[in-house]
Amino acid sequence: MTSALPRHQKAIDDAESLLFSDQQHLGFAKGLFFGRFIADWVMPYPTLSTAQRTELDAVLPELREFLDDTLDPVAIDRHADIPPEVIEGLGRLGVLGMTAPAEFGGRGFSQMAYGCVLEEIGSRCASTSVFVNAHHSVGIRALLLFGTEEQKRRWLPPLVAGQQLAAFALTEPEAGSDAANVQTRAEPSADGTHYLLNGEKRYITNAAIAQVLTVMARTPIPGGNETAVTAFLVTPDMPGFTMIEPRMEKLGIRGTATARLAFRNMRVPRENILGPTGKGLKVALSVLDFGRTTFGACSTGAAKACLRLAGLHARRRRQFGRSLGEFELVKGKIARMAAHTYAMEAMTRVTASLIDRGLEDYMLETAMLKVFTTEALWQIVNDTFQIYGGSAYFTDLPLERMLRDARINQIGEGANEVLTSFIALVGMRGPGMQLKEIWDAIHHPAGHLRRAWSAGLDRAGAALHAPEVPFRSESLQSHAHRLGKLIWYFNIAVDRTLIQHREEILDRQFLQERIAKASMELFASACVLSRWDAELQAGLKEHDATAALFLHESARRIGRALAELRENDDDALVAAAEAALR
Ligand SMILES: Cc1cc2nc3c(=O)[nH]c(=O)nc-3n(C[C@H](O)[C@H](O)[C@H](O)COP(=O)(O)OP(=O)(O)OC[C@H]3O[C@@H](n4cnc5c(N)ncnc54)[C@H](O)[C@@H]3O)c2cc1C
Repeated sequence: MTSALPRHQKAIDDAESLLFSDQQHLGFAKGLFFGRFIADWVMPYPTLSTAQRTELDAVLPELREFLDDTLDPVAIDRHADIPPEVIEGLGRLGVLGMTAPAEFGGRGFSQMAYGCVLEEIGSRCASTSVFVNAHHSVGIRALLLFGTEEQKRRWLPPLVAGQQLAAFALTEPEAGSDAANVQTRAEPSADGTHYLLNGEKRYITNAAIAQVLTVMARTPIPGGNETAVTAFLVTPDMPGFTMIEPRMEKLGIRGTATARLAFRNMRVPRENILGPTGKGLKVALSVLDFGRTTFGACSTGAAKACLRLAGLHARRRRQFGRSLGEFELVKGKIARMAAHTYAMEAMTRVTASLIDRGLEDYMLETAMLKVFTTEALWQIVNDTFQIYGGSAYFTDLPLERMLRDARINQIGEGANEVLTSFIALVGMRGPGMQLKEIWDAIHHPAGHLRRAWSAGLDRAGAALHAPEVPFRSESLQSHAHRLGKLIWYFNIAVDRTLIQHREEILDRQFLQERIAKASMELFASACVLSRWDAELQAGLKEHDATAALFLHESARRIGRALAELRENDDDALVAAAEAALR
């Protein structure tokens, strides 16, 4: 293969050191790109430990009772504020520090158990679930993951108890999707005891109500002119902390306080650095993995709420002498809603379990989960809206609010386009490297043959036969067999795309999108199959039709995405876009 296009080389080098520096186990999603089905990561369908189940069974009824009594999503939306009694109550119930270790006052919940809690909140009020997410999933996450023992002891207890709130501040005017372009500067003092922060952040959830913010700022790399991003713990009482707009007026999740703020010669002690100096982007990416996992849980909760509402209306509302649910076009919407909700729950559960089981690298699965569930939820909210017809438009029903609330999901914590591209490129990197070994060996045999031989065997092995997809319930044989074949076709399509387009693939986002879509569907199907198998083993048959529908339709979507790699209107699309952009 030719070397990388020059304009990409720096970006590639940076991404390599950020994303691939550690030796890691091959995860499920990366395995798909090698044509493998690494069953152990998805099968058997993960379950909570007995201890966690018992704890969750104790927490959930208490939480539901509290939410029934105290949470008023309509008032939260109308007044654009989450009342203090809701925040206090969530703190009292342990929700604001649920996954933190007991030694810091947390409940030590697994991601799987925590996901169930967020699903419950997400099914009721998106403002509240985003608030919890910003505080717990991302706000205190950098401390939990990267804090020193001393930092954890000092900062965590009040945050975990909900006596203090947290925020995570990465986005700036010049650093949105391009998170590496952070312009906030942190200059070390001559004696090295502190840093002076200058810059502006915007769209930061909880910033105006938080007592602790994790802030990303650019620090000099010693011995040169280069800079790198570093994470700092910041408190609003630091002189120079300037709140420009505490609650930016907005479309949805109106109860959350989204702020624009600035730092003006703000003095931050050196001991407030979180994680290694210059490794802030690594900190941010790790933190966002958790946020994306809880996005899956919250979206699943909201999807379940829609399914309930849609079913209710389709049964009750009569037109043309029949209930709406008797019309096929309404049935189709409800069936797909149910199928996607089933898949969303399964994907969320499996992804959370990967974190709980200690897989080091789950960034592909969390990105897939975030894109898949948020796109599915948008469709589900829209379809529920449609089934309600004109009544959905009015504020006495929750649907117009749910529609407004759901829109942020496709943008926040990584716009879905950016993550789609990320999924394809990170996934294809592994097989791409193997193909490069083979290419190098053909052109420069000396020194490359050994590695090329093993890469060639791996590529050839994956191309020769479909991977085995295990199952326990006999009735799932044809589904498992078809999934294996789809992974095989996918792997061949990935290799063919890499061989045909080589480094140009970095610019070919239409191709990336098809590869990413197919891979997300494969992951979703694997999770659905695993869940369905577990249910059948437990004698449950109530989801048979729903799971089967998902697997049939998903297979068709995968086939379409792969076929369009070869037959498409990409050139026409580009030409029309360029004409329109002129
Ligand atoms: C309500 C709300 C709450 C938020 N909370 C937080 C928070 O707590 N902390 C925080 O740090 N940030 C937060 N954000 C910021 C959020 O993460 C960013 O809005 C998001 O990352 C996108 O950045 P941007 O808005 O600058 O859009 P841009 O980067 O300008 O992108 C705009 C659009 O361009 C497209 N696009 C961009 N790059 C590409 C590409 N490479 N390929 C294809 N298409 C592309 C996408 O469609 C994208 O939606 C919040 C935002 C909102 C709206």
